[in-house]
Amino acid sequence: MNERRDPIEDLAHLRHEFGEHGGVNMSIEASTTFTVIDPETMPELFEGRKGPDKGCYLYGRHFNPTVFNLGRQMAALAGTEAGYCTASGMGAISGAILGLCNAGDEVVASSAIYGGSYALLHDFLPAKAGIKTTFVDITDLDAVRNAITGQTKLVFTESISNPTLRLANIPRLADIAHEQNLPLVVDNTFSPLLLRPAALGADIVVHSITKFISGASDIIAGAICGSGSYIGGLMDLHMGPLMLLGPTMDPHVASTISLRIPHLPLRMAAHGERALELSRRLDALGLKVNYPGLPRHPDHELFNELRSSEYGYGGVFTLDVGDEQTANDLMSRLQNEQRFGYLAVSLGYFDTLMSCSGSSTSSELGDEAKAAAGISPGLMRISVGYTGTLEQRWGQLLAALGDTGIIGAKKVQAGTGTA
Ligand SMILES: *Cc1c(COP(=O)(O)O)cnc(C)c1O
Repeated sequence: MNERRDPIEDLAHLRHEFGEHGGVNMSIEASTTFTVIDPETMPELFEGRKGPDKGCYLYGRHFNPTVFNLGRQMAALAGTEAGYCTASGMGAISGAILGLCNAGDEVVASSAIYGGSYALLHDFLPAKAGIKTTFVDITDLDAVRNAITGQTKLVFTESISNPTLRLANIPRLADIAHEQNLPLVVDNTFSPLLLRPAALGADIVVHSITKFISGASDIIAGAICGSGSYIGGLMDLHMGPLMLLGPTMDPHVASTISLRIPHLPLRMAAHGERALELSRRLDALGLKVNYPGLPRHPDHELFNELRSSEYGYGGVFTLDVGDEQTANDLMSRLQNEQRFGYLAVSLGYFDTLMSCSGSSTSSELGDEAKAAAGISPGLMRISVGYTGTLEQRWGQLLAALGDTGIIGAKKVQAGTGTA
């Protein structure tokens, strides 16, 4: 799909549409309802014969021009034909799945996914809609192939698994799904621009915009990107999950997000650079740091094959300090004494965010599921910000590691010497 198109070039092109009064930014369309000049247009809108592609709007939960424009930008970013935005990442993921599945259908999903997506597939959808999921180790391609049944309607994975940071082999997974005429749905929240799932073979790309794309931890938002007919179907007046469940993005939010997309490439590169340097230094101290940019990461080579090299290896690494108490001690020192970052869930913020995955964002998983996904109790997920200087942040990190007793005094001195 669109292999040779560059999302940065497409985005720059799209943004050259002026606002209503010639403003350099697109206008915010604050209306929830839209007039028709000619009464005959109204039934055409309801029958789907006229729509936003022809400049015709009906009602804000259906399509809004500002949200529609942001959807086009998200499609350009993802490299898909179309896209539409939602009030949250979960709104996007649930809408994307319900757009493909009816009661009795099945999903094959990675076992190492965001806790909310896991709860949706493991608990909510079977109980509420009779949609069952088989969870598999997504790096085990035979397991993925074997999990597909006659009822399977899609294969779902995150491009980089959360919080274990394993890379999905998107081209191979797409082949497996396509052999059975199934779409591959990829949650690319961890790696916008860095990985381009649609160019690698994915059919549908979902995003939590809340994270890197927003970049300021102030907005909850999401997007679904795919073919024009699939996205249109999500808005169907009788069966469209976005139309009927209503996870509608506010046009003011759409405008704000569109003003952040132009600097997303710069921010992704900055996150990646800082994360690579800190993880290299932690690795050199002999700590259990996991980051796809380290040559010993099990998917380092695959990452080099699949990634767009301008953006490094992403902004998230994990550090396993053994047990939850040590992790809590380290995180509270890093926040309250060193001001290195914040003890908070989420990721993609300009400052550093740290949390213990097992007791927070992956707490929806049972102990067995956590073990299967490789989430140990002392595993800290660190979303690396780009504020402050590298040496300042390294000094703070070393001091807290020393005070916690994770590293010896000698190492702290040796390390501070470079600061
Ligand atoms: C945060 C997150 C989501 C959910 O997004 P919201 O915007 O909070 O609804 C989904 N997938 C991943 C990988 C996430 O990190």
